[in-house]
Amino acid sequence: MAQSPLLFTPGPLTTRLETRRAMLEDWGSREPAFIAMTAELRRRLLDVAGGHGSHVAIPIQGSGTFIVEAAIGTLVKPDDALLVLANGAYGERMIEIARRLDRKVEALRWPEDQAVDPAAVERALADNPALTHVALVHCETTSGLLNPLAAIAAVVARQRRAFMVDAMSSFGALPLDLRQTPITAVLASSNKCLEGVPGIAFAVIEKNAIEFAKGVAPSLSLDLYDQWRGFESNGQWRFTPPAQVVAALVEALRGLEAEGGPAARLERYRNNFRTLADGMARLGFRLFLDARVQAPIIATFRSPEDARFRFDDLYARLAARGFIIYPGKLTRAQSFRIGCIGALQPEDLRRLVVAIGQTMAERGLLVASEPDTAHHCSG
Ligand SMILES: *Cc1c(COP(=O)(O)O)cnc(C)c1O
Repeated sequence: MAQSPLLFTPGPLTTRLETRRAMLEDWGSREPAFIAMTAELRRRLLDVAGGHGSHVAIPIQGSGTFIVEAAIGTLVKPDDALLVLANGAYGERMIEIARRLDRKVEALRWPEDQAVDPAAVERALADNPALTHVALVHCETTSGLLNPLAAIAAVVARQRRAFMVDAMSSFGALPLDLRQTPITAVLASSNKCLEGVPGIAFAVIEKNAIEFAKGVAPSLSLDLYDQWRGFESNGQWRFTPPAQVVAALVEALRGLEAEGGPAARLERYRNNFRTLADGMARLGFRLFLDARVQAPIIATFRSPEDARFRFDDLYARLAARGFIIYPGKLTRAQSFRIGCIGALQPEDLRRLVVAIGQTMAERGLLVASEPDTAHHCSG
């Protein structure tokens, strides 16, 4: 069997062999062993979030967007109004979801390279008492930008609104502790910083928010209240569970604990990011974001000015060497992205940078050397 490529992507991403091996069994959905696995999954998700006692973990089948849609549909009632804080594609996606669900929605927007400003959020909430919920993307994977979660959570709590956080590309690595940061619902998925395989998304929701959400969701399969009642009543998933994905995610969560928890994982990602950013700077590539707002999750590089540069060509040449990178998603600047998350070590990023240098040289595109500047990041 050919060796798997290394994925420098925001997910699906490179997983540990142990995580993939955990899937080599069949489980019946009603078997005690599988019910125990589901219980361990839900407990471990609460461990990571610091949500024991106050919150419940509700997994669903599907990708990350499924849980965002499920959470908005289940928690925002037809008479409520949602304020989305947007500075990238995932914020825009929440606005689109709310519209499709026929929920009242307003947006506060910032450019893709600027963080959400808590003071502006506070003013918007003070000015508009009709707003009941606020939604934020913690790490905007569009660019790799880190929004100031704790400061915004404090503002939303002071203004007594419900707060929903898309923590898809941060959960399990960037600091998030529900004992200290008031959040109604944290949303994430199996295949980003938790380093599981794709197929499960989940919400960690405040008990007294989900308890009052009966009959709100316009969708049957994306009703998180019913999903939660299902788990609480018999420990089972309402509909066919992605059994192997559950097994892989439980193994991945054990691996997170063994690594030393989110703080240790963040340290590894930071080292990955630094290795990448320093190496790319030596090749002449420029990061899109300022270091103050850069999360060490995914790096967006500006495409070189040289008109002969083609992302597709760089992608194909790297893929042929076993390295998978990611296209840009910015609305304005030409760019491409390289993820620092997944079962990757700084040495993998070093090898990637060497391969990028070779690829550029093959095409006669090597960008002029720059002084060796050190790159740091926030978070
Ligand atoms: C990955 C991601 C999502 C969900 O994307 P899916 O393709 O549905 O898994 C949502 N928000 C953010 C910030 C993400 O990074």
